[in-house]
Amino acid sequence: MFDVVVIGAGVIGGMIARELSKYNVKLCIIEKESDVAMGATRANSAIVHAGFDAKVGSMKAKMNVRGSEMMPRITKELGVKYKNNGSLVVGFESERAEVEAIYKRGVENGVKGLRIIEKDELHALEPNLNPELSCALLAETGAIVCPYELAIAAVGNAMDNGAELILDFEVASIEKNGDGYSIISSNGQTVNCRYIVNAAGLYSDDVAAMTGDGDFSVHPRRGEYMLIDKECGNFVSHTIFHTPTKMGKGILVSPTVDGNLLVGPTAVDIEDKTDTSTTREGFDTLFTRSLDNVSGISFNKTITSFCGLRAVGSTGDFIIKMNDRVVTLGGIESPGLSSAPAIAEYVEGLLNGEGALGDVKKDYDPIRRPAHYFTELSDEEKNEIIKKDGRYGRIVCRCERVTEGEIVEAIHQNPGARDVDGVKRRTRGGMGRCQGGFCSPTVVAILARELGVAFEDVTKFGKGSVINYGKTKGED
Ligand SMILES: Cc1cc2nc3c(=O)[nH]c(=O)nc-3n(C[C@H](O)[C@H](O)[C@H](O)COP(=O)(O)OP(=O)(O)OC[C@H]3O[C@@H](n4cnc5c(N)ncnc54)[C@H](O)[C@@H]3O)c2cc1C
Repeated sequence: MFDVVVIGAGVIGGMIARELSKYNVKLCIIEKESDVAMGATRANSAIVHAGFDAKVGSMKAKMNVRGSEMMPRITKELGVKYKNNGSLVVGFESERAEVEAIYKRGVENGVKGLRIIEKDELHALEPNLNPELSCALLAETGAIVCPYELAIAAVGNAMDNGAELILDFEVASIEKNGDGYSIISSNGQTVNCRYIVNAAGLYSDDVAAMTGDGDFSVHPRRGEYMLIDKECGNFVSHTIFHTPTKMGKGILVSPTVDGNLLVGPTAVDIEDKTDTSTTREGFDTLFTRSLDNVSGISFNKTITSFCGLRAVGSTGDFIIKMNDRVVTLGGIESPGLSSAPAIAEYVEGLLNGEGALGDVKKDYDPIRRPAHYFTELSDEEKNEIIKKDGRYGRIVCRCERVTEGEIVEAIHQNPGARDVDGVKRRTRGGMGRCQGGFCSPTVVAILARELGVAFEDVTKFGKGSVINYGKTKGED
């Protein structure tokens, strides 16, 4: 019997689990996919919003502003890349009133470091902007982060502090029994607990319905992106937003923490909660709409495209509530990533208010070292490590300069990588210009060796995503 079960291993479930792992509670995270960070957390804009966007007084506004304040400390503790690059909401002269309204809302939300800048300063800061843009809101606290790294690190840190992770567990029904709940998976496994935290993202309404809560619904809104080669990573230094619409924050152009350039997202409401395909129409929108903000993006240097699904809630705000030993998190769309540390702190408060958590552990350790760090070391430090373990002297991913030693670490640290995409998200092996064309077979071989499975049993992302069907020549 667990004290608390967190359903969903995205950035929200992960950050909550990490917060709860401070306490002497028996804690479990359950996830329907074969790895953590496979939902919206995997595919988004990766922006730590300053907090000027959300309606004054809303949960979104409160959680965003607090989360953005907490993010530098949390990312430092978890060894996750974070860069305070600042953001600009740019506008044409006809949009000045909107830029001023956003400034006013940001001040009311308590965002620090906001100011409106004029044309000369704007174009001096960002020479590649559309020359017609005449003003902008500069948010000094705006930042960028790696979202899946944050979720992986948060789950890993919770596990290092005693939490259990169960993958491939799709919650299919929940039964109340006495003082607690039985959570039953689609393949008949059962996990019992006293408290549930429902952090199931797009499916949080379905999971809430299993606990008898039909008060809200969540629908998917697609957002497509193009990721452009590191050669273009300095095209802009700030995150460039256009003035937002009711569908979202518009198409942004931003550097990423890993040095690429990101363009997106589109915003299209759909029905299917699994449709993350990219489309021709999406690309056309990105090509044309990004021209509002910048001129001359080298779209011919695009290295990949992807699509994320926003979990749009029926209330328009984050839904965070506790009822009958169930904490429900619904409609955690943007700025959910920015808000994750604050949401975790808030949920900790809800559970503490019910006396669910008990004492803080004496040996709780908030620090975690990621698997991808080698390239950032000095030559002397690298040589010291290679002397002890030659696998750090063997570069597997040439584009991102990832060593075999780091891949082995990613497989064995919490939560261990079990497939090729898992290695990719933890080490960046396969994230570069060739998108794994060169290193994937070597990564498969390392996974097979370290996990003790056959070469052809290593998948791309679990669940039947077969890479190798069998041998074409000989036995080896
Ligand atoms: C296009 C787009 C752009 C965005 N840009 C930003 C941004 O720049 N800044 C920002 O702050 N926010 C942004 N967001 C929002 C942010 O990505 C989300 O708020 C955040 O990732 C939500 O995390 P989550 O853990 O709630 O959801 P998810 O990451 O979706 O995690 C939920 C998890 O629950 C699991 N699950 C679901 N059902 C079950 C079940 N029945 N049993 C077991 N497990 C289950 C899923 O597999 C998944 O892993 C963006 C979102 C999108 C889609």
